[in-house]
This record gives sequence, C-alpha cells and structure tokens, in this order.
Amino acid sequence: MTFKQRVFSGVQPTGNLHLGNYLGAIVKFVELQNNYDCIYCVVDLHAITVWQDPAELPKAIREVTAAFIACGIDPKKHIVFNQSQVAEHAELAWVFNCVARLGWLNRMTQFKEKAGKDRENASVGLYAYPTLMAADILVYRATHVPVGEDQKQHLELSRDIAQKFNNDFGKSIHAHGYGETFFPLPEPLIQGPATRVMSLRDGTKKMSKSDASDQSRINLTDDADAIALKVRRAKTDPEPLPGEEKGLAHRPEADNLVGIYAALAGTNKAAVLGQFGGGQFSTFKSALVDLAVAKLGPINAEMKKLVADAPYIDSVLADGSARAQVLAGETMKAVKDIVGFVRR
Ligand code: ATP
Ligand code: MG
Repeated sequence: MTFKQRVFSGVQPTGNLHLGNYLGAIVKFVELQNNYDCIYCVVDLHAITVWQDPAELPKAIREVTAAFIACGIDPKKHIVFNQSQVAEHAELAWVFNCVARLGWLNRMTQFKEKAGKDRENASVGLYAYPTLMAADILVYRATHVPVGEDQKQHLELSRDIAQKFNNDFGKSIHAHGYGETFFPLPEPLIQGPATRVMSLRDGTKKMSKSDASDQSRINLTDDADAIALKVRRAKTDPEPLPGEEKGLAHRPEADNLVGIYAALAGTNKAAVLGQFGGGQFSTFKSALVDLAVAKLGPINAEMKKLVADAPYIDSVLADGSARAQVLAGETMKAVKDIVGFVRR
C-alpha cells in the first residue's frame, strides 16, 4: 500500500521557544514545505499534561503560532492550527490507548524524566502523552515527522501502534475496502548537526523550556544583547577548538556550540572546524554571536509584530483547524467503521 506523502509535526505551547526547538524542529518544518503537504500543530492538549495557567495558555498558543509564521511557515499553502480545535486527535488517541500496551508506555524515558521522583503524582495525561502523539500524526495518516532527537522513542511507539492497529484490525480493514494496511508507519526525520541542542550551562543536558536557568537557553524572543551575553557566558573548556570532528568527543560544550554554529550557517561541523579549528573560543564565540543575531534578529522582530495582532493569529488557527478537521474527520469515520462502532 502506498500512502500519500504528508508531513506532520507539533510544538507545545509550554513557555519560551528556544534555539533547540528552532534548529531541531522549526527549521526543518520550513524546508519541508517545498516538497510535501505539511501540517504544523500547536499541541495545546499535550501542554496541559503538566499544569498550565489558564491566563497564560492563550498567549503561549499564539506565540508558537507567531513563531511558525515568523520563521517562514506559510499557513495558506500548508496547515497551521492548534490541536484542541480538532477533537479527532483526542478521539483517535482513545482508540490508541486501547491498542498500545502498558509495557510499551512503561519504557518511555520522557515520562520518567518529566515525572521525576514523584511519579504517583504525575498526571495520567503525561503518561499517555505518546498515544496522543501517535494520534496527532496518524489522524492525518502522515508519512514523515520532523522532530528533535528526544522524540525518537515516541516516534517508534507511533510506528508500533500503527502496526498493531493494522494487524489487529487487518480483516476489518480489508472488508471495508482499505486494502491491507490502514495506517502508514510514520518515518522520523532527524537530521543535521543540531538534532539535540544542549544547555549552554551544561553540555550534557538538553536545552529545554523547563530549565530553571534562563542562561541555559537562547529564546526566540531574546534580543541581540541577551543573545550576546548568553553566548559569551556559555560554558566551555580551556582547550582551543580542534581541527577535526573527532576532537569534539568528550567535549560536550564545544561539540554543542560547533553544532549550533553549523546548523545556523547551514553547513556541517567539519566545515566549521575547518574555519575555526586551532583558534580560541573567544574568537569563535564572537562569530557565533554575529551569526545568531543575524539569523534570529529578523525572526524576533516579526514575532513581535505578529503577537501584537491576536485577531490575525486566531484567524490563522481557525482556518487551519477547519482544513485539518476535514482530513481528520475522514480518518476518524474510517477508524469507527474498522473498529466496529455504529455511526450516523
Ligand atoms: P518541553 O520541555 O515542554 O517538553 P521542549 O523544548 O521539549 O519543551 P517540545 O514542544 O516538547 O519542546 O518540542 C518541540 C520540538 O522541538 C520537538 O520536535 C522536539 O524534538 C524539539 N526539541 C526540543 N528540544 C530540543 C533540543 N534541545 N534540541 C533539538 N530539538 C529539540
Ligand atoms: Mg519536549
């Protein structure tokens, strides 16, 4: 069975978007627009798996939407919307909760990290997060999913769920005229020099929205001065930069900064080391500040303009949701028939 090629990915409105989200995900979203039909979602249902202040959440949803557009996503040619406006995501997630096995979810490292020591007190939603993510992707029968490295395990789970659904309901899928398999096995797209951007304070920790230290990340809302200060203060080691990539082994902070530079410049680590290898960090950091400001400055300015126009952002989300719902509704009807529900 060949499926129509389609890209889906999501970003949570859980706080400040950072350079990791930008290089690991959004830059890829922008590139893929040239070759695929793309659906980009502000995943607000995922956000509430941990507490979100209802007074702040709408702002965060609009900010991620503004970031998508400011980075170059075209909401007319493609689809941009927020998850809670298309109820089929939650509906399919329930079916997938009944397909996925407890043992599969018990292996998910993101839950372990986010729940921390007080696991008994984590929300059921945080535990079931990966089945909702599978539904997000598969409700559009999407074939390609650009994500950062941290989401690889969840993508594998999505594939397992798709496969088990196809197997468990094989006869019914066939009987309803959908051929041998109903869901594609979605492929993760995790490529380039910055699939896992690390904290500027600790090269062994992922750059993340939830890190208590704002110095650990570059936010898309940071101005030039803030970017310069954070890069200059970024942790490094006393050695000069190596001339070759293998010299970055066991030097997580150096590796991270070189990867960030390579991704921002659209090149690779080897080329960056060809230029800066043997030199001091201070010289390299100055160049990195200039590059980061040149790339992020215009995005920052555009985001500011867009978030000031909430009615426009809301109209983008309404239009995107309506178009997404047409596709999701078709899938959900078929799923109901396949599972054996009686429907109107
Ligand atoms: P949270 O801490 O709330 O989970 P997050 O920063 O991980 O926030 P998400 O909305 O969960 O952001 O992820 C959005 C996308 O950004 C995903 O594709 C994820 O893989 C990617 N991503 C997140 N952090 C990084 C990072 N440090 N490096 C590269 N990609 C990242
Ligand atoms: Mg995350």
